[in-house]
Amino acid sequence: MSFLEDAQRAAEALDSYDRHARARDGKVLVQPPARELQTRMDLDRLAREGGLTGQVLSEFVRTYLDGTITLRDPRNMGHQTAVPNAAGALGSFIDGYATNPMAINEMGPAASAIELFYIDWMLSKIGWESGESADPRAGGVLTHGGSLANLTALAAARAAIAPEAWKSGVPSDLVMIAPQSMHYSISRAIGILGLGQDALIASPVDEYGRACGAALADVIQSQRAAGKRIMAVAASACQTAAGLFDPLREIGEICQREGIWFHVDGAHGAGALLSEALAPLMDGVELADSVIWDAHKMLRTPCICAAVLTRDHRHLDTAFVQSASYIFHDKDNPGFDFIGRTVECTKAALGLKAFMALAEAGEAGLAAHIERQTALAREAYDHIHALPDFECAVEPEFNILCFRLTEGDETHALELRRRLLARGNYYTTYAAYRDEHWLRLALMNPETGMDDIRGLVEEIRLVAAEPA
Ligand SMILES: *Cc1c(COP(=O)(O)O)cnc(C)c1O
Repeated sequence: MSFLEDAQRAAEALDSYDRHARARDGKVLVQPPARELQTRMDLDRLAREGGLTGQVLSEFVRTYLDGTITLRDPRNMGHQTAVPNAAGALGSFIDGYATNPMAINEMGPAASAIELFYIDWMLSKIGWESGESADPRAGGVLTHGGSLANLTALAAARAAIAPEAWKSGVPSDLVMIAPQSMHYSISRAIGILGLGQDALIASPVDEYGRACGAALADVIQSQRAAGKRIMAVAASACQTAAGLFDPLREIGEICQREGIWFHVDGAHGAGALLSEALAPLMDGVELADSVIWDAHKMLRTPCICAAVLTRDHRHLDTAFVQSASYIFHDKDNPGFDFIGRTVECTKAALGLKAFMALAEAGEAGLAAHIERQTALAREAYDHIHALPDFECAVEPEFNILCFRLTEGDETHALELRRRLLARGNYYTTYAAYRDEHWLRLALMNPETGMDDIRGLVEEIRLVAAEPA
């Protein structure tokens, strides 16, 4: 077994996979039964006998790749997962081989230094300062995904309002206010943190489902009148279903006035901060107390890497402790131990792939990518909106678009998606937006173009004409 030769074999299989996908050659998605895939990949024999090297390895990787969903095919317009650039992907590879679980500095000094740098870079995009003399000094940590990042940020919010919760359990008077459109990981976090779903109070929303400030103050007052303490108000930038941005400044100003923790879920949309043209969508984000931001959505980073960022780093340092007294800054420690800020103990060198993806494209390159994908969603909207047999849910603000055939009953979009997936030529997701069913595009692939959108429209017409 030679590492170099096997790495080359894996790289060759990936390169061929990439070329086929980019040429729109074959299916975007195949879903053979799991048992059949197990047989094809010869899992049972390999597990018993070992020997995954050389030609066997090549064969295994090719068979594996035949059973994947191809993000690299431009006709894949489904989920909000980045198509990683080459350097980002190599970051995953290098971290896999070197394995530096760097939550304590000594287990990965270079990875830890990169994470500090990457966090500082993100903080600066928000407009927060992280230098030693900054007041407050912002801070952050990278975690395995946006869901964990939301949980971590809300643990910090809980510690800020009810530090006793850590030792004596969660007081029963805590509530959190968030629009129903928020990602489900918010309600999960509320469950995990012990507030219970009843403590999740729906924010007032406008006709597009965006959180609206006007009525928020009333909700705050009525909760307080009922004897509740508000742990946090949350908003999305952007929402998962249709990609709309909640008005951060409006909500942030109310939170500031009322002294309430403001959490911004920027998992998907915070990348808008990189673009001068799109940054206004994030206007007011600096008023937040906590922000999450996924690098594996718009920043060309492989799964998975998310940032939790807090305006005051001390909140993150106290998220998982009763008091901060045990957090000492060891003068002999030349780096930073992130472990106090995370749910994870062993933690991958998440910053490496995110930084390498950034360093391949450069800031301007990432901004151009995000602008391109947003412009494509706009162009797709203009095209689909003008078709006599299609309708769109709302004008897109970012790279997510909800649309459907105008005819058909309630669940038509779901049935059409089922048929589309069975053919496997295009991949879209489904969304419930304002209580209605829609097909949903997340335009993540830098090679998806209007021809793909037009092809999808034709494919939808085709499957719609299939007998039920
Ligand atoms: C993707 C997403 C999440 C969840 O992040 P994961 O990394 O998938 O766990 C949370 N909130 C929003 C707005 C998202 O787009």
